[in-house]
Amino acid sequence: MSRIIMHFDLDAFFASVEQLDNPEYRGKALIVGGVSDRGVVSTCSYEARKYGIRSGMSSYKARKLCPNGIFIRGSHSRYREVSRNVFSILERYGDAMEKMSIDEAYVEFKDCQKSPVEIAREIKAKVLEETGLTISVGISYNKFLAKLASDWNKPDGLKVITNKMVPHILYDLPISKVHGLGKKSVDKLNRIGIFYIRDLYKYDKSFFEQYMGKWGLEIYHRIRGIDKRKVEGHHERKSIGTERTFKTDLESMEDIRNIIHGFCDQLIEDINKKDVLIKTVSVKIKYYDFTNISRSNSFTNYTRNEDLIRQMVDEVLKEVKMDKKIRLAGLTFSNIIEGEEEQMSLF
Ligand SMILES: [Mg+2]
Repeated sequence: MSRIIMHFDLDAFFASVEQLDNPEYRGKALIVGGVSDRGVVSTCSYEARKYGIRSGMSSYKARKLCPNGIFIRGSHSRYREVSRNVFSILERYGDAMEKMSIDEAYVEFKDCQKSPVEIAREIKAKVLEETGLTISVGISYNKFLAKLASDWNKPDGLKVITNKMVPHILYDLPISKVHGLGKKSVDKLNRIGIFYIRDLYKYDKSFFEQYMGKWGLEIYHRIRGIDKRKVEGHHERKSIGTERTFKTDLESMEDIRNIIHGFCDQLIEDINKKDVLIKTVSVKIKYYDFTNISRSNSFTNYTRNEDLIRQMVDEVLKEVKMDKKIRLAGLTFSNIIEGEEEQMSLF
């Protein structure tokens, strides 16, 4: 293979750290995140997955699926510490590393002295030895296939996808496995009878552009084993946010506040997973007559302190007038950086 790209992904990361630190959680259905009923599941142990619980699921649903599960808030500073430890191992071995989240990274290798599989085995052993955790790795010649491979036989997986294996290895995969195809696109394609990657091969470029929007062409190439994205050492994030258009326009401030609080929980999960700090909080409102307002406020320092962020969201919400019905509400965190929190001065 010309380029060697590996995708590393820690297995059930937050839950595995907890099970490592707390023997009483081992072998149990453990759910990190989603302590309050409006929260979402951040990670869950493999024992919890047997009940159908998944990351990103509402904790309300998770509790219904597994009433006896152990739900904990988790210790994010501990996860960051372990994550840094793992990334420093990856950096030591690779030539370039691109961190995708707290538990996931692409690593590129140039001029390998050993076989890629040997290197991957060595890294897996090192991670286990230094942190007690298992990590899955996918090896290939581009990002798309490396990520697909790391997911192939989780947990503790190791899978190689070579160019000779493409495209037949992809034929029977459901289209949801195509990184870059969101749930909406998958549903849309399912409705017209496209379920597997092999179904997609029947269509030409214009179909991809029409049905998959701006990433269409990219996806057309990806499923043919072509992905030119580089492994970039430094990653800049501008903002993360979420919004919703309501089926019926909302009239009560209480409803809007509840929805924004739900968004806030999701975004806090997100910044914890991405291991970033934020400075600015913005609320966007669209009224029934399509007029928009946006209100925002910023901290003096970058932070990931949940209580401070929630307070700030409430401050910004006070600026929103409810004199007209509302058809859309959104929340965005911006001014995002990686790194450690500076101590906030109280004086
Ligand atoms: Mg993971």
